[in-house]
Amino acid sequence: MIEFAGCAKTPHSWLTALVNYYNEDKKHIHEFFLSKYFGDRSKTVLICKKCHKRFTLITSEHGICVANPENNLHHLHTTTLTKTNIASQCCYCNFTVNVVIHEPFIDIQIFDDLQKRRFILTYSPLARKTNGVDNEPMIDLFDTLDTFSRIVENFIHSINSDDAKRKIYINSKVFFDNLGYKLVDDQNFFEPPPFTNDYIVKFQHVSEEIDMKVMDMSEKTFKTFRNPYKYKKPYQRLQFILGTEYDPRYRTFLPSFNPIYATLGCVSDMNDEILEWAYTKAIEESPEKIPEYLQAIYEVSKERNSEPLRNLVLEQTQEGAADGSRITLL
Ligand SMILES: [Zn+2]
Ligand SMILES: [Zn+2]
Ligand SMILES: [Zn+2]
Repeated sequence: MIEFAGCAKTPHSWLTALVNYYNEDKKHIHEFFLSKYFGDRSKTVLICKKCHKRFTLITSEHGICVANPENNLHHLHTTTLTKTNIASQCCYCNFTVNVVIHEPFIDIQIFDDLQKRRFILTYSPLARKTNGVDNEPMIDLFDTLDTFSRIVENFIHSINSDDAKRKIYINSKVFFDNLGYKLVDDQNFFEPPPFTNDYIVKFQHVSEEIDMKVMDMSEKTFKTFRNPYKYKKPYQRLQFILGTEYDPRYRTFLPSFNPIYATLGCVSDMNDEILEWAYTKAIEESPEKIPEYLQAIYEVSKERNSEPLRNLVLEQTQEGAADGSRITLL
């Protein structure tokens, strides 16, 4: 389990922790996109394609750590860690980043249930995916989602028009119940909720949640959605707000999680100088954890066969021996 607790983190290690942050059983690596409707200069809103959770990031300022002369990396210490809130602060400067996590408006289970009674087109009709029921349903899940999307967007875009007040035929009761639609007298039609700002915001969220579901399904089929996707990957934006400027050995936006490096608040594509700095900083801040950090830097030195890091380990173990403390490397 990857946690925000433990050693302070460089921005890249912090991001790796964020994409792996989960609280329930369904573990996955979040696949983030920038929200289409929300987010501005002061806040960044991410939505995960897989769980539809929303992560709102607010930072005190943008960019690199000017107070860290060595490599301009923030050293992010976790100050709050709950199911819905992660806050971190840099120990060099005043930079803070606060993440608030919201559940989706439409429970992901509702989409899963829709899928059980509808079929999904695949690349080949022969390879059509069965959804495990006796009589294969003839309704296509894409068509259902397309209808939902049109209804939701129609509501959002029809300010002051009678269109928004249009009743709809029941398509999925549970879905429209969630949006605030009410069944009317004849029991076949749903009436839309009041046209207030709160509802518009809610509909905008749901519109994005439908898009995420469709994007996820599109990868497995030949069918494309009527909306061209207007969702951008967030890495450039995150790089801008967190100031992830460093000298990577290999340029990647989001390195995969590697526990040895994470112990030091680092990622595997960082260079030796940064690793040495991170180690030094970590033992300064938590001397009681020296054995753990030393073990990590030792493993890193072995893995990348680094002379300078080997020397650092040697130096450290000799120092340890000199002051009487016992450090055993595995
Ligand atoms: Zn997710
Ligand atoms: Zn800083
Ligand atoms: Zn620090």
